[in-house]
Amino acid sequence: MKIYLDIGHGGGDSGVVANGYVEKDLNLRFGMMVREGFLRRGQTVFCSRETDVNNFGTTADDAIIGSAKLANSLGAELFLSLHFNSATSDTATGVQLIYSKNDSKGRALCDLIAKKYKEAGQPLNAIYTRVSDNGLDYYGVIRLTNMQAIIVENAFVTTLQDVKKFDDDKFCKAVAEALCDAVTEFFGLNDGNDKPGEEETMYYRVRKSWDDPSSQIGAYTVLENAIKKADENPGYYVFDESGKAVYPTAGGTDDYKAMYLDLKARADEAVRLLTM
Ligand SMILES: [Zn+2]
Repeated sequence: MKIYLDIGHGGGDSGVVANGYVEKDLNLRFGMMVREGFLRRGQTVFCSRETDVNNFGTTADDAIIGSAKLANSLGAELFLSLHFNSATSDTATGVQLIYSKNDSKGRALCDLIAKKYKEAGQPLNAIYTRVSDNGLDYYGVIRLTNMQAIIVENAFVTTLQDVKKFDDDKFCKAVAEALCDAVTEFFGLNDGNDKPGEEETMYYRVRKSWDDPSSQIGAYTVLENAIKKADENPGYYVFDESGKAVYPTAGGTDDYKAMYLDLKARADEAVRLLTM
């Protein structure tokens, strides 16, 4: 199954800042655990970001619109928007799950996620849909995506004892696993098929040239990390599995996005051929 992880906020958009926590960082740490969990379960995972960046522009709206469009163009089958919450009260606790008013199966999926979260130690706060005066879904990531979309607000940053639980790596991972378990159970993906996802087998290699393997200074499953390494080492390039130099490229952000799409499409095709 193609699962898109919209890892909330990033770059200049911090999300909620309270109690010494910054939401964009919480989302990223949690999101990477969810990504790993789905890959381990043999699912195909796309992430809106894998570092502290906004891949879609400068504003929060840019990220919401860009992320939804990317998920649509990738043909993702499930969109999970990962966030941490805020409230005016400093005693609100638990996970909130939001689904589309048009999603007839949304409530059932959220119920199962809530059940698994509770087992992992994070109780439910609320499951709901939110609709604007114009009758459309209120939240952009739900309104603009054309696949099933769920917003997961893991805990309240504004309630210290709620967010603090996620400091513990074991707890954070148990909750991430709860999300993966709920999704794979809901969609019947637990069929013993544990083929690795594409990103476990696809490496981006940083070399001076493809024909010179001895110049290699790193191999990464995450493209952004390979790009960072190349940036730190002038004269080095990032190569994909086929030996094509994918970075540096000539242009700016748009080129990066096109390249990201191209790579994802080809990785997906490789997985498709593998599973035929
Ligand atoms: Zn948020």
